[in-house]
Amino acid sequence: MSCLFCRIVDGEIPATVVHETKTTVAFRDIRPKAPVHVLVIPREHVPNAVDLTGEQLGDLFAAAKEVAEAEGVSETGYRLVFNTGPDSGQEVFHAHLHVLGGRKL
Ligand code: AMP
Ligand code: ZN
Repeated sequence: MSCLFCRIVDGEIPATVVHETKTTVAFRDIRPKAPVHVLVIPREHVPNAVDLTGEQLGDLFAAAKEVAEAEGVSETGYRLVFNTGPDSGQEVFHAHLHVLGGRKL
């Protein structure tokens, strides 16, 4: 399997996993752009965020909320970002929700 994030889901590539549900996995970004930088992904391979179902999106946002609470940024605030397509800078074509916080962005 060639998709990097599918391989993280399958445990073939190590990642610092901070949260898991039946449908999602969340792990620390390897090149963090903020003190808290976690990626929340669906276990299922979907290349782009806009192709996720409503249920998948709901699961990602619910997981992101729990990650933010666990990381202690619920009160201070955080940014949720989906990059979609080449001009956005998307590097990994397995949909992922960035959770960024811990400093003024
Ligand atoms: P994007 O630019 O939205 O596609 O974001 C991809 C993100 O994945 C970047 O912020 C990378 O730093 C991050 N990334 C790439 N490889 C890994 C990895 N092996 N483990 C954790 N994060 C990664
Ligand atoms: Zn994938």
